[in-house]
Amino acid sequence: MAHTSTPYERFKTLLEETMNHLKLTLEERKPFLEPQHIHRKELTLTRDDGSSATFPAFRVQYNNARGPYKGGIRYHPLADEDEVKALAALMAIKTAVVGIPFGGAKGGIQCDPKALSKRELQDLSRAYVRAFKDHLSPDIDVPAPDVNTNPDIMAWMRDEYEKITRTYAPALITGKPLSYGGSLGRDTATARGGFFILQEFVNLEGKDADDLRVVIQGFGNAGANMAHLLHNAGYTVIGLSDSHGGIYSEEGLDPVRIEKYKHRTGSITGEYCEGSVCDIDKMKMDNVRTVTNEELLELPCDILIPAALDNVITEKNAGRIRAKYILELANGPTTPEADAALRKKGVTLIPDVLMNAGGVTVSYFEWTQGRSGEQWTAEYVDNELKRIMLDAFRAVRKEVSRSGLTYRQAAFVLGVRRMLEAMHARGWISDATAIAAGSRGRRRSFR
Ligand code: GLU
Repeated sequence: MAHTSTPYERFKTLLEETMNHLKLTLEERKPFLEPQHIHRKELTLTRDDGSSATFPAFRVQYNNARGPYKGGIRYHPLADEDEVKALAALMAIKTAVVGIPFGGAKGGIQCDPKALSKRELQDLSRAYVRAFKDHLSPDIDVPAPDVNTNPDIMAWMRDEYEKITRTYAPALITGKPLSYGGSLGRDTATARGGFFILQEFVNLEGKDADDLRVVIQGFGNAGANMAHLLHNAGYTVIGLSDSHGGIYSEEGLDPVRIEKYKHRTGSITGEYCEGSVCDIDKMKMDNVRTVTNEELLELPCDILIPAALDNVITEKNAGRIRAKYILELANGPTTPEADAALRKKGVTLIPDVLMNAGGVTVSYFEWTQGRSGEQWTAEYVDNELKRIMLDAFRAVRKEVSRSGLTYRQAAFVLGVRRMLEAMHARGWISDATAIAAGSRGRRRSFR
């Protein structure tokens, strides 16, 4: 049977390509190959029925050359060490691409959070902090939300940390509720940041929102907020999905109505398929049909936005994708093989490390506010987010036009180069290498 690549292998493929492009020396390559630290623990939870359960948990600290480790914690049955490693590495590239003073990390608990009660979820979250407390701090490693984690969980984690360390630590963790050290704009930041890039990109392509049909996979924090932003800006959102399945209407879907329904029932497919029998009449009337998550990706549209999990656009379905543009709001949704196939087809893809960096950017604002005691206005947050996202987009685009790279390759080149510069500045790489590299002019020309 053919070996399917793991998330970290897929990251390594991109990394190798980038390092070759930048002509890195062996010494320069070394710090990129493996994370600096991999922390693993088993968390024990007393279930509501009195039984005891254990869950594998991870915190991977990939690199801190540019500042404290930064990255979310995900709760998912498939969150394993390899995936968390890849996501930690992507965070380091991402923080470098947007130029904020952080490194990259990621955490995970291998669990099905939807099968846990609120009390169990809280206990498990506190257990995570107790397990990893020695590796976390506002100066060392600053976690945040990710897949299936939210402000409530961040609040429990901060509270647990402050209790056990007997400190006041608002900057320990980001994505907190507004009532307990959160920042205005953090809840919508991932989508908002991506939206700024999308608007800029659409303008540069000479297109108009009114003519563009969008499909979004995922209706969590990133996907749902993006659906609202696009709908309000005049785009036609024709396809949406959550982990249960998707819906499609050529005439466009109303994200507000769908959100309300999802709130009530926990699933979006039900919106047009209520009760015990699928309400076909209603579906006909609205011209809405249900689709699987796989079918959703292959719908005819202009813009496809994967906003859920990784590894959904692969060599298997890349050929059937009909979008002209793919904007990655999820982390790692496209495999390197799919990337190559899409490029051949003339599809333009804006990668995760740029497109979804709005979340960590406003996390940086939250961390800054936590450290200074200041409170920024929503308007200030939004303006700063826009400035940082557009600066990053322009820097990547410059690399694209200069070297004929894809947006992903260009973003990786930018990120790795900025990380490398910090490592040189810190003296992590011997001067001999730096001088040798300088003398061949590599720092000026990257071809
Ligand atoms: N989980 C988000 C990401 O993947 C946010 C991380 C953060 O805010 O630190 O970018």
